[in-house]
Amino acid sequence: MKCEEALMKIDDYINDSLSFKETEEFLEHVRGCPECYDELEIYFTIYMGMKYLEEEKLETYNIPQMLKNDMMEKERAIRRRKLLAGTLFAFCLIFGVGIAISLMLYLGHIELPKLL
Ligand SMILES: [Zn+2]
Repeated sequence: MKCEEALMKIDDYINDSLSFKETEEFLEHVRGCPECYDELEIYFTIYMGMKYLEEEKLETYNIPQMLKNDMMEKERAIRRRKLLAGTLFAFCLIFGVGIAISLMLYLGHIELPKLL
C-alpha cells in the first residue's frame, strides 16, 4: 500500500469501515511508515477528542495509547480470523480427501493394500 492510499483510508480505519483485508494492509503500512502513523494519530486524537466532548467525558485520556491498543486489538482480530480460516481450510481439505478416497474406493478405482 502506498502512502496516498493509506492516508485516504485513515478515516475509514477510525470509523471501522475497512474490510479485514484492507485493515490488515493499512496496519502493515502504518506500522512501517512513521509519517502515516503520525497522520493517523492526529486524526485519531481529533476523532476521540470530539467523541469525548460530545459525551461530556471530562477525564483525561491517553489517546496515543488508545490508538496503540486499538491497532493491537485489530491485529489480534485479523490473526484470529486467519487462524480460523486456516483451520477451516485444513478441515475441508481432510474432509475432501476423505470423500475422494471413499468415492474412488466405491467406484473401484483404487484398492486398499491387502494386509495379509
Ligand atoms: Zn506512508
